[in-house]
Amino acid sequence: MNIHEYQAKQLLKGYGLPVAAGVPVLKAEDAEAAARQLPGPLWVVKSQIHAGGRGKGRFKELGADAKGGVRLAKSVDEVIANVGEMLGNTLVTKQTGPAGKQVNRLYIEDGADIARELYLSILVDRSVGRVAFVVSTEGGMDIEQVAHDTPEKIVTVAIDPDKGVTGREIGVLNSALKLEGDAARDSVSLFPALYKAFVEKDMSLLEVNPLIVMKDGRLRVLDAKVSFDNNASFRHPELEELRDITEEDDKEIEASKHDLAYVALDGNIGCMVNGAGLAMATMDIIKLYGAEPANFLDVGGGANKEKVTAAFKIITADPAVEGILVNIFGGIMKCDVIAEGVVAAVKEVGLKVPLVVRLEGTNVEFGKKILRESGLNVIPADDLDDAAKKIVSAVKN
Ligand code: GDP
Ligand code: MG
Repeated sequence: MNIHEYQAKQLLKGYGLPVAAGVPVLKAEDAEAAARQLPGPLWVVKSQIHAGGRGKGRFKELGADAKGGVRLAKSVDEVIANVGEMLGNTLVTKQTGPAGKQVNRLYIEDGADIARELYLSILVDRSVGRVAFVVSTEGGMDIEQVAHDTPEKIVTVAIDPDKGVTGREIGVLNSALKLEGDAARDSVSLFPALYKAFVEKDMSLLEVNPLIVMKDGRLRVLDAKVSFDNNASFRHPELEELRDITEEDDKEIEASKHDLAYVALDGNIGCMVNGAGLAMATMDIIKLYGAEPANFLDVGGGANKEKVTAAFKIITADPAVEGILVNIFGGIMKCDVIAEGVVAAVKEVGLKVPLVVRLEGTNVEFGKKILRESGLNVIPADDLDDAAKKIVSAVKN
């Protein structure tokens, strides 16, 4: 689950981290009161969407010369004018894709005088099995470019879970970020507080880009992107209210109601698979035969008829899907149950695209018989290779 920047900052403030004062605004008429709550002389008007690159983004409805999704204002009037221009319009950034995202919330913030923009993130570094800080002196807008052109400017520091962030790591991070004086003193509490927030709230990513050194030498979290690990959401009922479902994919919301692991993708072959490993292998082999999956969908090891039906409905409701591949290994689950689910789902929602079904495992013959005798136009496949070839060629014709 992702949250907005202003929510992330609110949360980090609770951990004692330095963030600017700010006021979220959902309606243009609230802009003036919000701006007047802040001291000036500099305000920042920031689009709140679940995507980065807002500063360099452009609004679809405004001309190419119009300013981006993060704007500086030097008076209350300028704040009001910017809010009027931005709210309700569609911001297109490197991360939103060409369709962009509608800006329904803005965050008005007290502006900072920036001396240096740094990059800092905390993530789970699977290569070492630890939470790690990733930092760079080259913060600001384009860390992907830095990673590509000058990877030596990015420093990773893994944290021992028993010890947490110790003086040693703080020293390494300070020298990697060239922090001195007040900034180096601020960081002594800043790094451990960020780490604590990450661990306590079961985040999967905490990105501060930029972390700034201000003209007065102090540190401030200027931007914050937080993703939480959904597998731990049961531990955090307090985070549920931060969810903004207008930012989420309708199909993913529906899938989560049925406890299905579903991720929407850009291709045209809908996949229904059990087990994450088999789902990954299925996506790989679709690509190998020259097509693209429309989704990742793991119905899980213990799927029943209802779950299979729900999964099928989600796939067929996607207008991008031009063919469906069902690839199930019946281990805990029996193939006849899957076959019954597929038949029930097709009878309920209809089938307008080719459907290839590959079943293997417990009761496979029984499952195949159910499909054969259903009278449905199902293309049977014997193994993964055969299944992938058949669905790719069905979609291409
Ligand atoms: P992003 O483009 O979505 O990553 O949005 P950011 O919050 O990172 O803002 C983009 C850029 O706007 C930053 O890198 C800064 O250069 C600038 N910016 C944001 N807030 C301030 C501020 O308080 N003062 C100044 N001077 N610039 C700011
Ligand atoms: Mg940023």
